[in-house]
Amino acid sequence: MTVKTIDHTTTDKNSPRELDAVIVGAGFAGLYMLHRLRQQGLVARVFEAGDEIGGTWYWNRYPGARCDVESLEYSYQFSEELQQEWEWTERYASQPEILKYINHVADRFDLRRDIQLNTRVVQAAFNVGDARWHIATDAGDAVSAKFCIMATGCLSSTNLPNFDGITDFHGPTYHTGNWPHETIDFSGKRVGIIGTGSSAVQAIPIVADQAAHLTVFQRTPNYSVPAQNMPLDPAIQQAVKADYANVRANNSQMPFAWGARYKLPEDAALAATPAQRQNEYEERWQIGGLPFIGAYSDLLFNQAANDTAAEFIRGKIREIVQDPKVAELLSPRHVVGCKRLCADTHYYATFNRTNVRLVDISADPIERITTAGLRAKGEDFAFDCIIFATGFDAMTGSLAKIDIRGKNNLALKEKWQAGPRTYLGLGTAGFPNFFTISGPGSPSVLTNMLVSIEQHVNWIGACIEHMRRHQFVTIEPTVQAEDAWVEHVNSVADMSLFPTCNSWYLGANLPGKPRVFMPYVGYPPYVEKCNEVVAKGYDGFVLATATATKTEPCPA
Ligand code: NAP
Repeated sequence: MTVKTIDHTTTDKNSPRELDAVIVGAGFAGLYMLHRLRQQGLVARVFEAGDEIGGTWYWNRYPGARCDVESLEYSYQFSEELQQEWEWTERYASQPEILKYINHVADRFDLRRDIQLNTRVVQAAFNVGDARWHIATDAGDAVSAKFCIMATGCLSSTNLPNFDGITDFHGPTYHTGNWPHETIDFSGKRVGIIGTGSSAVQAIPIVADQAAHLTVFQRTPNYSVPAQNMPLDPAIQQAVKADYANVRANNSQMPFAWGARYKLPEDAALAATPAQRQNEYEERWQIGGLPFIGAYSDLLFNQAANDTAAEFIRGKIREIVQDPKVAELLSPRHVVGCKRLCADTHYYATFNRTNVRLVDISADPIERITTAGLRAKGEDFAFDCIIFATGFDAMTGSLAKIDIRGKNNLALKEKWQAGPRTYLGLGTAGFPNFFTISGPGSPSVLTNMLVSIEQHVNWIGACIEHMRRHQFVTIEPTVQAEDAWVEHVNSVADMSLFPTCNSWYLGANLPGKPRVFMPYVGYPPYVEKCNEVVAKGYDGFVLATATATKTEPCPA
C-alpha cells in the first residue's frame, strides 16, 4: 500500500494548497490530463480514491476481465515514443496487462509525484468571490484550484441492487466492479452469479471451469460474439506501428472511433440477399468481437435490418447450446447493440457443462438473499459464495457521490435531477471552470474510450491555454447552448435503435434513475462540432475576465 503524501514542492511555496487544477481520478483520463496540464506549465494535483492508479482497470479485476477493443487501438496516441515502445501480447489485452501499461505510462512521464492516492474527493464548491474551486477530501485535505476536472470514469460507481436480506449471507460476496486483490479460488465451491452483462459473460466460463457448481441468475439474456482472442501476431503489431498515424486517423473517422482496419459497413442489410447476409455475418463472427455490429450500415437504425443480425446470433446460440430450452432462454429478443454487445470466450458453450445451471429470473425477481444463499422462484439456493455482476450507476454515478456545488450553491445532483445536462459533455452551465472528461452528452462509452479521452483532454488543455493567453478568469456553457445540445443528443439517439431497450446507456438499469440517453451517437460529427465551437471563439460558452464578461466570439 502506498503511503499518502502531498509533495508540496510542485505547488506554490507560499500557498501550497492553492493549485491551478484539481483532477479527480487517476485512470486513463486523469493521467493524461495531468501530463497535458504539466506540459502547459500548470500546477495540478490528482486525487485518487484507490490505493493504486488505474481507475476502472484497477477495480475490475474479476476472472476473465479483458478489454473488448483491440489492444493496438485501446492505447494512448499522444506520444509516438510510447506507442512504439510498448509491446502488447494479445489481440485483446487482459486487465493485468492494461494495468501494467497504465503504470508504465505513469512512470515514463513521472506522473506519480502529483497523484495523491487513498484520497476520495467529497466536496467541490465554486466560490464566486475568488473564482476558485474549494475542494475537500475524506483524508482531510482542503485545497483550492482554478479548474476542477472530473476524470471519474463512466463505469466506476458499482450498482449493488438493494435485495432484501443483502447482508444476511454467511459466505463471501464479490462484485465484479470491485473485485478483491487476492486471487479467489472457486475450486470445489458452489457459486451463484447474478447478472449476464459483459462482466458476467467474461467471468462465467472461468468460474464454471473452477467451481464445483455454478448457478447463473439471468434477468435479460445478452448478445455475445466470440472475441476470437489470440496472441498478437508480431507481424500485425509491426505493421500497425509502422503506420500508426494513419491507423489512428482512420479510426477517428469511424462512427465509434475504432475498427477502421476491418471492412467498412457500406451496404444496408436490407439491400443484401439472405445468402449474402449469412456470409457477411459468418465472416464477422469469425473475425470476432464488436466489429460484428459493423456488418451493415443500417443495423443500429432499422429494426428489420437489426432483426437479421439478431436471428443470426440466435441461430448460433441454438447451434452451440445442446439443450434447446436453455438455448431459448439464452436467446435475447431485444435489438442487437442496444445494450452493449458482449465479446466472449466460450460463453454459450459453458451452458453445456453439467456443473452449470441457468435460472431465468426475467418474470420472477430474486426474492431475497438468505443466510445460506438466495431465494428465487420459490426455490432456496445454497452457495459458498455469491458474485454480483450487476453493473454500474453509469456515467453520472461517481459524480453524484461528490457534493459538487456551482454558483449560488447550486448542487450538481439537484441540477441533474431529471437527467444530466451538459454542453458537449464537457461542461455544465452554472459551474464555471468545471470540466467532465467523457461526460454525459459526449460519445464516451459508445467509442474507443482512449480516443474520446484524448480528444477531451486536448480540448480542455487548449481551452485553458486560450484562457491564459486572453486573460479570461472563468468559462462556462450558456444555458441556451446547453439546452440545445441536450435536445440534439436526444434527437440523434432517437434516430437510432439505441433507446429501445433497458440499457445502462439510458440509466434504465437502476430503479429511479431518470431515463435519459446519456452518450452522444457519432464520433466524427461530435469532434467536428467541438472544433467548430473553438473556431468560433468558444461559441456557446461564456468567458469572463476579472472585470468583464465576454459572450461574443473572441479570438480563437
Ligand atoms: P451490465 O452490462 O449493466 O450488466 C449487469 C447485469 O446485471 C445485467 O445482466 C442486469 O440485468 C443484471 N442485473 C442488474 N440488476 C439486477 C437485479 N436487481 N436483479 C437481477 N439482475 C440484475 O454491467 P457489466 O456486465 O458490469 O458491464 C457494464 C459495461 O462495462 C459493459 O456494457 C461494457 O461497456 C463495460 N465492460 C466492458 C468489458 C469489456 O471490455 N469486455 C467487460 C466488462 C464490462 P438486466 O440486463 O436485466 O438489467
